[in-house]
Amino acid sequence: MPSKYVIHTETVLRRFQPLIQSGIIAWEEGCLKCPVCVKKKCVYSVYDHRGLNARQMVESIDNECMNCLRCVQGCPNELIHKSINPEFAAMGDEHWTPNIIASLWAQSDSGKIPVSGAGYPGPFSGPGFDAIWTDMSEIVRPTRDGIHGREYISTAVDLGRTPAHLVFDAESGLLEDDSLLMNIPLPIILKVPAFGAISEKTLVGWAEAAKRLGTLFTVPEDMLKAIPADYGRWLFPSFSTASALEGLPDGCRMVELAFEDGLSEAIKRIKDFDPSILVSKKIPMVEGMADRAESLVASGVSIIHLEADFQGRRHDDPGTFLKDGIRSIHLKLVDAGTRDNVTLLASGGISMAEHVAKSIICGSDGVLVDFPMLIALECRMCRRCEKGLSCPVDIQDASAEWTAGRVINLVGAWHNQLLEVMGAMGIRDARRLRGEVGRAMFFDQLDRETFENMGAVVEECELE
Ligand code: SF4
Ligand code: SF4
Repeated sequence: MPSKYVIHTETVLRRFQPLIQSGIIAWEEGCLKCPVCVKKKCVYSVYDHRGLNARQMVESIDNECMNCLRCVQGCPNELIHKSINPEFAAMGDEHWTPNIIASLWAQSDSGKIPVSGAGYPGPFSGPGFDAIWTDMSEIVRPTRDGIHGREYISTAVDLGRTPAHLVFDAESGLLEDDSLLMNIPLPIILKVPAFGAISEKTLVGWAEAAKRLGTLFTVPEDMLKAIPADYGRWLFPSFSTASALEGLPDGCRMVELAFEDGLSEAIKRIKDFDPSILVSKKIPMVEGMADRAESLVASGVSIIHLEADFQGRRHDDPGTFLKDGIRSIHLKLVDAGTRDNVTLLASGGISMAEHVAKSIICGSDGVLVDFPMLIALECRMCRRCEKGLSCPVDIQDASAEWTAGRVINLVGAWHNQLLEVMGAMGIRDARRLRGEVGRAMFFDQLDRETFENMGAVVEECELE
């Protein structure tokens, strides 16, 4: 039996005080000067410890408060209140919500699965991946001793084309197949985000994380020079022009081509240089993507990377989400009988561990993760760096080792959540999860089936 793939995590402390969801407001005016103030009764002694972080000009009280509300309820003159921190509420956008950002920070601290307390106060359904519910019916029959117990749940996936069938010669000898496959231990590839206060140290840290995780790191051609040559094996460079292929790093095993002009010549050039290099073609998530994917597979392309915008939406139609794009390509290839000839990777807006499992259920083989790698480094998604302004958390100054540690923690937490979800679905191999819609429920479909005909009058049926 192969040894188990386990991501070893350890606490990597933040460099800055995080933005906290709520803050304490305590009025002095009207204070009754009680002999024993409720502030003295705080079980966490928050009021005794409070102090000012002079570097960031942040009061420590909000970071230490555990939100038990004892002081709020106990003050006889109701002078103590808790209020939403407007700076926290203003973080990110409708996709990269403050709660998602804060959860990614916490997972990067410790590598632990986030636990948010009893009950779920959120909406029943929502847009994009929130409209998919995974079937957790096997949770009543979990693996014998947990996700890290004796039963093996494999998250490994293959990149490339799997042979459709074996071919034998007249003497029953197996004939060579030209299929090329690479195996990575989890369906997650790291990717440089479209913006960020990124320095050479950041890039080296991400490359180091990919190396220790055993996965790949997608880097645009203009950033390749910043990464030492010995990381070549873990790089998955993305080229926007055929001429840029000159910069192919030594040892690299997979290349992405993001251009259309001269595509087949570029593939031939790479194969002539080293036939063992896998070639992936990036296609934007726009109208006609399924037809484009089908024609690429027919021409022999063995890996397709579908890229949505950074909120996981179609570039030319924000009402269509990554799950819909993956599904349309997957089903098109299934209908054409060519699905096993290609690996389908997806990126754009993957912001939670559950999105990895849901992307695979929709039909992808794996995902590329970009902004969570930046948020792991305390990014607040303020987008100041896009305008050339300074980063409030100086990401560019963080060491490569600290960067790698926080990204490994985040991916470790996601890997454990993937194991939990797969275990609860009764799926023991990530490759078996691909397109397994029988293990999920789609809100749109249920909504349609339940309510579409409600109130419809059946013809020739008279109501009394
Ligand atoms: S809400 Fe609870 S933890 Fe926070 S300061 Fe008041 S008593 Fe302490
Ligand atoms: S915190 Fe703001 S400025 Fe810094 S990397 Fe993130 S988005 Fe850019």
